Amino acid sequence: MTAVPQISLNNGQSIPQLGFGVFQIEKADTVTAVTTALQTGYRHIDTAQGYGNEEEVGEAVAKSGLDRADVFVTSKLDNSAHLPDDARLAFDASLAAMGFDYLDLFLIHWPLPDRYDGDFVSTWKVLEELYREGRARSIGVSNFQPHHLRRLHEESEITPAVNQIEVHPYLTQDEVRAFCSEHGIAIEAWSPIGQGLELEDPVIGSIAQRAGKTPAQVILRWHIQRGDIIFPKSVTTARIKENFDIFGFELSDSDVAEISALNKNQRTGPDPDTFTGGV
Ligand code: NAD
Repeated sequence: MTAVPQISLNNGQSIPQLGFGVFQIEKADTVTAVTTALQTGYRHIDTAQGYGNEEEVGEAVAKSGLDRADVFVTSKLDNSAHLPDDARLAFDASLAAMGFDYLDLFLIHWPLPDRYDGDFVSTWKVLEELYREGRARSIGVSNFQPHHLRRLHEESEITPAVNQIEVHPYLTQDEVRAFCSEHGIAIEAWSPIGQGLELEDPVIGSIAQRAGKTPAQVILRWHIQRGDIIFPKSVTTARIKENFDIFGFELSDSDVAEISALNKNQRTGPDPDTFTGGV
């Protein structure tokens, strides 16, 4: 079976560079999709309280016959639970739903500058406690801009292990990636294939043809060679396998540069500086 590279985090833990994301996978489809992913060889699952499928992720891991220690599981704090007491209760509820006694990684999902008086620092301090208690083996953030990270740096003790942000060829996020690299924060790239946006791009198409790979594989490989952590989502068995099969070829430096040059700062999701987390 293909060996997925491990990325070392700033606290000494390691994380498989390729995982499986379950955003927008219906509850009823989650056990089957995660089971297929685990059978394919994925050992890293990315979920969130807001995805409504944590229980099914836990069920699939339990049924897989794999040791809990062999699967890296991430979840994220719901946008409605930033107040410290709520955050702690929400974390406990995640563990209970999944049937776990720890999470490998727990993230603040969005900074929410216009809610809770913009006080994500108090929320972060709860994650620091969960980390010290050993119930979250690593802690991090998602959708944080450099100015949010700078504030955490100044007002709290633990540097986030990761920042999970939207990254794909049309949104290369050079500024946030450079800031995180300088501060030892690993980048997790969400919507790695832009939810399908770039699959028809002619530059991607011609590189794929030359490499004898699919456009999705070329884009995923581009992320791997840039050093980011990814977890593409699919419920289709053939695509789950296709997305895992990205370690038997390499893009040249000029292919990587050509794909990076497609950047047009085009988001598929909300802007973290204005997103209020919905209702
Ligand atoms: P993605 O870039 O993984 O794209 C998923 C879409 O592409 C699906 O519609 C799927 O049908 C299609 N697809 C997948 N593989 C394909 C293939 N080989 N060929 C053709 N089409 C294919 O987008 P995503 O699901 O938004 O992101 C991946 C994961 O990132 C999520 O599941 C979630 O875990 C995470 N995420 C996090 C945040 C956040 O705010 N932190 C936001 C969005 C997503």
